[in-house]
Order: sequence, then C-alpha cells, then structure tokens
Amino acid sequence: MEQLKDRALTEYILYFENGDIRRMRGKLSELQKLPVTKIEPVTTLTVVCMYCKSFMGEKDGQGQTGTSHSICRSCWMEKFPEYPYPEDEKECSG
Ligand SMILES: [Zn+2]
Repeated sequence: MEQLKDRALTEYILYFENGDIRRMRGKLSELQKLPVTKIEPVTTLTVVCMYCKSFMGEKDGQGQTGTSHSICRSCWMEKFPEYPYPEDEKECSG
C-alpha cells in the first residue's frame, strides 16, 4: 500500500541547529535531511466568501489548515447594504 504522498509544495518552518528559522517549500523527507532541530508545517487558511465562494486570500492558520469563511465586498453590499464593509471602518479611523 502506498504511503501518504509527500506533498511537494507544502511549506514548512525549519528551525536550524544554528538558530536560523526559515520558511521553505519542499518535501518533508528532503527537508529532514537538513541540520534542523524542528520542522513545523506552515498552516494557512484559505479565505473564501461564504456566499459566492470567491477566493479572498490566505491567512495564518495558527495551527489550523483548511478553509475560513468571510464575506466579500460585493456580497456584503448585497446582503447588508445598510452597513459599511468592515474593512472600510478600519481605514476610516483617521
Ligand atoms: Zn461573495
């Protein structure tokens, strides 16, 4: 039976023995050959609009991977026209 495939484009945080910390993409089996003390996968959450499913970017998953739902600007305008889009509020603080 085949083992779980090395996901070629997975990004990891590598903690080198000399104190360096780097983000590298590669196969885990290859990266483990480097002089590292610890390897952690970089966890990213893909943010998609909960209504139209459009891709809205990625954010740090802080230990979780998967999909996070948000609302894109055009859906917000459609669903909540009486409220400003949240990002606008931050920008208008000055
Ligand atoms: Zn949307």
